[in-house]
Amino acid sequence: MRKIARVALFAGAALGATAVWAQADMSEVEITTVEIKPGVAVLFGNGGNIGVSHGPDGTMLVDDQFAELSGKIQQAVADLGATPTRFLVNTHYHFDHAGGNENFGNAGATIVAHDNVRRRLAEGATVMGNVSPPAPESALPVVTYDKGLTFHLNGDVIDVMFLGGGHTDGDSVIRWRNANVVHMGDMFMHNAGWPFIDVDSGGNVEHLLNSLGQVIAMTDPETVIIPGHGQIATRSDLMAFRAMIENGVSRVKGLKDAGATLEEAVAAKPVEGLRNNQNGFIADDDFVRAVWASLDAHRR
Ligand SMILES: [Zn+2]
Repeated sequence: MRKIARVALFAGAALGATAVWAQADMSEVEITTVEIKPGVAVLFGNGGNIGVSHGPDGTMLVDDQFAELSGKIQQAVADLGATPTRFLVNTHYHFDHAGGNENFGNAGATIVAHDNVRRRLAEGATVMGNVSPPAPESALPVVTYDKGLTFHLNGDVIDVMFLGGGHTDGDSVIRWRNANVVHMGDMFMHNAGWPFIDVDSGGNVEHLLNSLGQVIAMTDPETVIIPGHGQIATRSDLMAFRAMIENGVSRVKGLKDAGATLEEAVAAKPVEGLRNNQNGFIADDDFVRAVWASLDAHRR
């Protein structure tokens, strides 16, 4: 793993600042590049981690952070010796991952994402108090899919897979088969406490557990895991994350099955002490509520 710039990996460190992202001043943000394999890199800035495939067939980005950072991201791509972005894949529609779509679309990139990403971008949404207005046409994916698709690019075979979502109803996982790298989008935030289950956007913790299980089954101890936020991780980190969630879900489920109401379940503090980061931006009570809503949705 070659560090191009010796700056803290998670320069943005914005997990605790979700509510102010939309208003944040991006002028001070530095994009940090880490080449994890030949032709595969990660860009850290502010917002979701960006995966890069670059080489003779052109440049593919996975996610694009915020519109204000597009110029810096394009410069970081050029600094890799890569050509301008040919393909842009959105792991999901959230504003801190797809905020640069309009700029990249106007610059000639072909935007690729799950059907529900296009639909939710076009409709607009409010996520944790941040209003995302309906996106302009040039910001919308022009290639969409239901289950996934495969890129044959830069000597690798790169699968874009919808495994059932969980963070939203449109989360894709991107896997470089030869390089043995996986980009998780926000279905995995590394050392950030509880996952964010965006129930209003079709997120569901049971779907998340299922998706994470599928990724664990298709990876190995050598796989480099790029989380949606946080530092580069391993399969064992992913397994620990899934186990933490499963543990929390089973405690909430136990109360629900015993006949507790939601308010009684929240008051019982069933998941206290379980999360891997007490400063994570999802509070215990909010996780319990998201699990509860997920279980309700699943039974319908
Ligand atoms: Zn997200």
